[in-house]
Amino acid sequence: MSRVADHLAELTGFRDRDALDATLVSALHDLLRPLDIAIYRIVGEGEDRRWFTRARLAAGELVPSADPLWADLSALPPLAEHPVRQTCLRQREGLMLDGQPALTLLPLDLERDCDAVLELRSHAPLGAEQLRLIGSVLRVYRNFQSLLDYSERDTLTGLLNRKTFDESFMRCTVPLPPPSRDALGQRRGGGAAWLGVVDIDHFKHVNDCHGHLIGDEVLLLLSRLMRGVFRQGDQLYRFGGEEFVVLMRCDDGEAAGRAFERLRTTIEEHAFPRVGRITVSIGFTAVRPGDTPSSAFERADQAVYFVKQTGRNRVASHTELVARGDLVEHRQGGDDVVLF
Ligand code: GH3
Ligand code: MG
Ligand code: MG
Repeated sequence: MSRVADHLAELTGFRDRDALDATLVSALHDLLRPLDIAIYRIVGEGEDRRWFTRARLAAGELVPSADPLWADLSALPPLAEHPVRQTCLRQREGLMLDGQPALTLLPLDLERDCDAVLELRSHAPLGAEQLRLIGSVLRVYRNFQSLLDYSERDTLTGLLNRKTFDESFMRCTVPLPPPSRDALGQRRGGGAAWLGVVDIDHFKHVNDCHGHLIGDEVLLLLSRLMRGVFRQGDQLYRFGGEEFVVLMRCDDGEAAGRAFERLRTTIEEHAFPRVGRITVSIGFTAVRPGDTPSSAFERADQAVYFVKQTGRNRVASHTELVARGDLVEHRQGGDDVVLF
């Protein structure tokens, strides 16, 4: 019993989802001694959805492994490779398959769109006592996930909130090894970090004409369009009001610019109920070595400001604006001061 209590204490000791999933897998591994145990989450959009390993621990291993946050989507197993996991998620209930090994699957999230499954392999099917134990640990896990959601996410859009940005910036922007090519010549991993600021044009006008509730609906719909444009691993934040931030990995400024341009056109072409068309102004910058969350944000925000002054509804790269002489960058004691 005290071992269970120790694991529950550890489970709720981190305010970090990666650590939470790794701790859940370690705890159940220690308590049940399965052949292996893992958490898989669905990532990707539409037809191209895949299984991302959040944490996996096999017998004989000491610490769980996971796919990297910025994993190349095409390298992950497609959904159809694991139909039993899909069945478990669709039915939102546990599944047990007798066999060698025996397989136990449990959905990790019962309320929202469920897209994560706990999968456990064992020599023999789990008994009632073991299933009860998993059920209790999962209840604590789910409750704790809800608490994390509450503290990290913006309540209107479900995107990450500003507080989380400062905390996760360093983790999201650590330099990665350069991209490599696999046997088929496909690119694998790598890429620098980029930060974009997205600000809705004349949003005050939307509120003034249609009311705050319709304005809120626009914010919600826009956040959904953002989710559709960016990839697994890209971090999307609502910074308050009608301002959004994207942290992403990309090969170079051109690829980052294309992604932000895709967002701009997607929004421009979308018909928002009652409101019709809206546009956004976007500025972006490479995250530089030694950047703090606010120094990188400032550069992207200055690019947005430039777009606002010069017509709106456009994407601008801070580096290009400086190179063209539209912005002047002075370095003072490590801080960048930009004038235009
Ligand atoms: P610009 O093109 O220069 O960005 O103009 P703007 O009107 O978008 O910018 P401004 O900063 O003047 O106004 C932002 C408006 O966003 C003010 C406020 O009415 C609205 N707003 C801020 N937060 C919320 C919110 O949570 N819900 C709604 N509906 N509106 C909000
Ligand atoms: Mg605005
Ligand atoms: Mg604004």
